[in-house]
Amino acid sequence: MTRFISGRTPTTNAEAFDRALRVTPGGVNSPVRAFRSVGGTPVFLASGRGPYVVDVEGTEYVDLVGQWGPALLGHAHPEVIAAAHAAVDRGLGFGAASTGEVELAELVLDRLTLTGPDGAERRGIEKLRLVSTGTEATMTAIRLARGATGRPLLVKFAGHYHGHSDSLLSEAGSGIATLGIPGSAGITPETAAQTIVIPYNDEDALAEVFAAHGDRIAAIITEAAAANMGVVPPKPGFNRLLADTAHAHGALLIADEVMTGFRASAAGWWGLEEREGVPYDADLTTFGKIIGGGLPLAGLGGRADILDLLAPLGPVYQAGTLSGNPVAVATGAAMLRGAGPEVYEYLPRVAHEIADGLSSALSAEGVAHTVAWTGSQFSIFFRDTAPQNYAEAQDQDVFRFGPFFHAMLDHGVSLPPSVYEAWFVSAAHDATAVERVLAAAVPAAKAAAAAKAPAAS
Ligand SMILES: *Cc1c(COP(=O)(O)O)cnc(C)c1O
Repeated sequence: MTRFISGRTPTTNAEAFDRALRVTPGGVNSPVRAFRSVGGTPVFLASGRGPYVVDVEGTEYVDLVGQWGPALLGHAHPEVIAAAHAAVDRGLGFGAASTGEVELAELVLDRLTLTGPDGAERRGIEKLRLVSTGTEATMTAIRLARGATGRPLLVKFAGHYHGHSDSLLSEAGSGIATLGIPGSAGITPETAAQTIVIPYNDEDALAEVFAAHGDRIAAIITEAAAANMGVVPPKPGFNRLLADTAHAHGALLIADEVMTGFRASAAGWWGLEEREGVPYDADLTTFGKIIGGGLPLAGLGGRADILDLLAPLGPVYQAGTLSGNPVAVATGAAMLRGAGPEVYEYLPRVAHEIADGLSSALSAEGVAHTVAWTGSQFSIFFRDTAPQNYAEAQDQDVFRFGPFFHAMLDHGVSLPPSVYEAWFVSAAHDATAVERVLAAAVPAAKAAAAAKAPAAS
């Protein structure tokens, strides 16, 4: 009989991966973690503190993955950890209403309430329903949009990632982009046909799709600023055009702020565009990542009249055993309370220091590249100009990323293992951490320069 329990925790990355491969598909529980696009053995992490993570072999890295977003204040921030501990001590969950959920929703609504240039109050969302993952938030958002409008079709942009529900995987970013696949098996043609995919930042394609199908479109879903094909900001005013176009045709705009929420500004990308004088009115907004402070928590916010269509008030069903889990809401609330104005002032500064240093290192080696920005988030493209859409994002020297990534890792810097992912800095990335990244950038730039394009087939 095959036995699996060894009674020993793996002490090397190779051993951990070997054992993982025997019990888990691909050895991982989320595909990009498997290092398939950069090659090599994935690093198994054991702990994290501030800007650093440590693997099972005891090697420390400056971390630029940041849990894919939630580590806004760095890993294991004392106040966040204390809030989590205190909540754990009161019980792990009840499956009943609890006051922490109310307090978190109040914190979020407060952040999403701003004063417009005319002195009038502007509200990004009016109500919030908590769920457990970003995938659930966007899945519920599109069900709600269809329930509210009575229409079937959804418009999404190529290269945008909204989680892995059936309707949202066509030409998606993140792992779908990393693995170079068009979508997913297991989705029926009928479902796929209800999602129309158009190029990002393309006013003409938008006009055409609404001219052809306007009265059957329930919603446009967009990343408020795209960050899952590398970062690709919306053209100025593009989000407003999306809102206006949707509304002119009786459709809704769903702004996916799972990545940008509470990162691009205290009030997310919406807050940033409000401040920059190009406000837009999304009907529904999704949150994830930072909102849970590192635990599984996400949210769906929006207009009260639409949110009130959710059960128990309305006919659109959504529920969750773990929704609004008390440990997760306490942790998320501590994260939001800890992320004051100084954090949002610091993030772009430290991100620019890192990006500038990297860019100099790449230029010194003659590597064609550009740094693209959405708020305080950036990514590197191995091409001369910043892309405006997915086709352009894919048109780069992708082969340079693997060697670049591994040189960074060998010199103690952990990057997202894909050229199509944004880099995540945190408020804990201090001068020492930045110095270590920039020191690693020199050999990494050499590795990128030396990388050979695959032979044309
Ligand atoms: C991460 C992400 C999601 C999915 O969130 P999960 O919690 O991984 O399901 C959805 N939308 C965007 C923009 C994301 O970055």
